[in-house]
Amino acid sequence: MSEEKGKCIFCKIIRGEVPASTVYEDEKVISFLDIMPANKGHCLIVPKTHYPRIEKAPEELLAHMMIVAKKLGKAQSLAMGTKSYNLLLNNGEEAGQVVEHIHLHVIPRFNRKRLKLDWNHLNYKEGEMSEVKNNIKKFM
Ligand code: AMP
Ligand code: ZN
Repeated sequence: MSEEKGKCIFCKIIRGEVPASTVYEDEKVISFLDIMPANKGHCLIVPKTHYPRIEKAPEELLAHMMIVAKKLGKAQSLAMGTKSYNLLLNNGEEAGQVVEHIHLHVIPRFNRKRLKLDWNHLNYKEGEMSEVKNNIKKFM
Protein backbone atom coordinates (compact mmCIF):
# COMPACT_ATOMS: atom_id res chain seq x y z
CA MET A 1 0.00 0.00 0.00
CA SER A 2 1.39 3.45 -0.89
CA GLU A 3 1.84 5.96 1.94
CA GLU A 4 -0.74 8.20 0.28
CA LYS A 5 -3.46 5.53 0.44
CA GLY A 6 -2.33 4.51 3.93
CA LYS A 7 -2.96 7.99 5.34
CA CYS A 8 -6.01 8.94 3.27
CA ILE A 9 -9.10 9.31 5.49
CA PHE A 10 -11.46 8.05 2.77
CA CYS A 11 -9.27 4.99 2.07
CA LYS A 12 -9.41 4.30 5.83
CA ILE A 13 -13.21 4.45 5.70
CA ILE A 14 -13.24 2.13 2.67
CA ARG A 15 -10.96 -0.35 4.50
CA GLY A 16 -13.27 -0.19 7.53
CA GLU A 17 -10.59 1.36 9.77
CA VAL A 18 -12.60 4.55 10.39
CA PRO A 19 -16.38 4.50 10.94
CA ALA A 20 -18.77 6.26 8.57
CA SER A 21 -22.51 6.67 8.23
CA THR A 22 -22.79 4.71 5.00
CA VAL A 23 -25.96 5.15 2.94
CA TYR A 24 -24.91 3.21 -0.19
CA GLU A 25 -22.17 0.91 -1.40
CA ASP A 26 -21.46 -1.10 -4.55
CA GLU A 27 -18.33 -2.62 -6.10
CA LYS A 28 -17.03 0.75 -7.34
CA VAL A 29 -18.16 3.43 -4.87
CA ILE A 30 -19.24 4.08 -1.30
CA SER A 31 -21.46 6.91 -0.14
CA PHE A 32 -21.63 8.22 3.41
CA LEU A 33 -22.75 11.32 5.30
CA ASP A 34 -20.31 14.23 5.39
CA ILE A 35 -19.37 14.71 9.06
CA MET A 36 -19.32 18.51 8.74
CA PRO A 37 -22.24 19.05 6.38
CA ALA A 38 -23.28 22.15 4.50
CA ASN A 39 -26.85 20.98 5.22
CA LYS A 40 -28.08 17.94 7.12
CA GLY A 41 -28.22 14.91 4.81
CA HIS A 42 -25.13 16.08 2.86
CA CYS A 43 -23.52 12.93 1.37
CA LEU A 44 -20.26 12.15 -0.37
CA ILE A 45 -19.90 9.64 -3.22
CA VAL A 46 -16.39 8.23 -3.07
CA PRO A 47 -14.70 5.76 -5.47
CA LYS A 48 -13.27 2.71 -3.72
CA THR A 49 -10.02 3.23 -5.62
CA HIS A 50 -7.82 6.17 -4.56
CA TYR A 51 -7.63 8.84 -7.30
CA PRO A 52 -6.41 12.25 -6.07
CA ARG A 53 -8.01 14.24 -8.92
CA ILE A 54 -10.55 13.62 -11.69
CA GLU A 55 -7.84 13.77 -14.37
CA LYS A 56 -6.52 10.49 -12.93
CA ALA A 57 -9.86 8.68 -12.77
CA PRO A 58 -11.27 6.45 -15.55
CA GLU A 59 -14.21 7.94 -17.43
CA GLU A 60 -16.44 4.93 -16.69
CA LEU A 61 -15.93 5.49 -12.97
CA LEU A 62 -16.79 9.20 -13.25
CA ALA A 63 -19.92 8.26 -15.20
CA HIS A 64 -20.82 5.71 -12.53
CA MET A 65 -20.47 8.36 -9.79
CA MET A 66 -23.01 10.49 -11.66
CA ILE A 67 -25.40 7.53 -12.03
CA VAL A 68 -25.17 6.91 -8.26
CA ALA A 69 -25.68 10.65 -7.66
CA LYS A 70 -28.98 10.47 -9.56
CA LYS A 71 -30.21 7.58 -7.38
CA LEU A 72 -28.86 9.07 -4.16
CA GLY A 73 -30.20 12.55 -4.92
CA LYS A 74 -33.68 11.04 -5.15
CA ALA A 75 -33.32 9.02 -1.93
CA GLN A 76 -31.85 12.01 -0.10
CA SER A 77 -34.68 14.25 -1.29
CA LEU A 78 -37.33 11.78 -0.09
CA ALA A 79 -35.57 11.33 3.25
CA MET A 80 -34.94 15.02 3.89
CA GLY A 81 -38.26 16.33 2.56
CA THR A 82 -36.95 18.47 -0.27
CA LYS A 83 -36.64 18.23 -4.06
CA SER A 84 -33.42 20.14 -4.57
CA TYR A 85 -29.77 19.37 -4.22
CA ASN A 86 -26.37 20.46 -5.52
CA LEU A 87 -23.71 18.16 -6.95
CA LEU A 88 -20.23 19.49 -6.33
CA LEU A 89 -16.73 18.19 -6.96
CA ASN A 90 -13.82 20.27 -5.70
CA ASN A 91 -10.90 19.37 -7.96
CA GLY A 92 -7.61 20.75 -6.62
CA GLU A 93 -6.50 22.73 -3.59
CA GLU A 94 -7.40 26.14 -5.03
CA ALA A 95 -10.89 24.82 -5.76
CA GLY A 96 -11.32 23.94 -2.08
CA GLN A 97 -10.38 20.26 -2.23
CA VAL A 98 -9.17 19.21 1.21
CA VAL A 99 -9.33 15.41 0.97
CA GLU A 100 -7.13 14.29 -1.93
CA HIS A 101 -9.32 11.35 -2.90
CA ILE A 102 -12.00 12.40 -5.36
CA HIS A 103 -15.53 12.66 -4.05
CA LEU A 104 -18.81 14.07 -5.27
CA HIS A 105 -20.77 16.13 -2.75
CA VAL A 106 -24.56 15.69 -2.84
CA ILE A 107 -25.95 18.60 -0.82
CA PRO A 108 -29.67 18.87 -0.11
CA ARG A 109 -31.11 22.38 -0.42
CA PHE A 110 -34.07 23.60 1.57
CA ASN A 111 -34.18 27.23 0.52
CA ARG A 112 -32.52 29.74 -1.76
CA LYS A 113 -30.31 31.02 1.03
CA ARG A 114 -26.91 31.33 -0.52
CA LEU A 115 -24.64 28.39 0.03
CA LYS A 116 -21.03 29.47 -0.06
CA LEU A 117 -18.62 27.05 -1.68
CA ASP A 118 -16.65 27.44 1.53
CA TRP A 119 -19.65 26.64 3.70
CA ASN A 120 -20.23 26.81 7.44
CA HIS A 121 -19.80 23.25 8.61
CA LEU A 122 -22.83 22.17 10.65
CA ASN A 123 -22.85 19.68 13.51
CA TYR A 124 -25.30 16.83 14.04
CA LYS A 125 -26.91 16.40 17.45
CA GLU A 126 -26.31 13.16 19.39
CA GLY A 127 -28.00 10.30 17.48
CA GLU A 128 -29.17 12.53 14.62
CA MET A 129 -26.56 11.36 12.13
CA SER A 130 -27.64 7.74 12.47
CA GLU A 131 -31.28 8.76 12.06
CA VAL A 132 -30.54 10.71 8.85
CA LYS A 133 -28.37 7.86 7.48
CA ASN A 134 -31.14 5.28 8.07
CA ASN A 135 -33.72 7.55 6.44
CA ILE A 136 -31.65 7.97 3.26
CA LYS A 137 -30.76 4.23 3.15
CA LYS A 138 -34.43 3.38 3.32
CA PHE A 139 -35.05 5.12 -0.03
CA MET A 140 -32.00 3.73 -1.89
P1 AMP B 1 -13.48 18.73 0.01
O1 AMP B 1 -13.28 20.09 0.61
O2 AMP B 1 -14.25 18.76 -1.27
O3 AMP B 1 -12.18 17.95 -0.08
O4 AMP B 1 -14.42 17.98 1.03
C1 AMP B 1 -14.00 17.10 2.00
C2 AMP B 1 -15.20 16.79 2.85
O5 AMP B 1 -14.94 15.60 3.56
C3 AMP B 1 -15.54 17.88 3.87
O6 AMP B 1 -16.85 18.39 3.62
C4 AMP B 1 -15.45 17.14 5.20
O7 AMP B 1 -16.44 17.54 6.12
C5 AMP B 1 -15.59 15.68 4.80
N1 AMP B 1 -14.96 14.72 5.68
C6 AMP B 1 -13.68 14.75 6.15
N2 AMP B 1 -13.45 13.69 6.94
C7 AMP B 1 -14.60 12.96 6.97
C8 AMP B 1 -15.01 11.75 7.61
N3 AMP B 1 -14.17 11.07 8.40
N4 AMP B 1 -16.28 11.31 7.40
C9 AMP B 1 -17.12 11.99 6.63
N5 AMP B 1 -16.81 13.14 5.99
C10 AMP B 1 -15.58 13.62 6.16
ZN1 ZN C 1 -7.83 7.53 -0.61
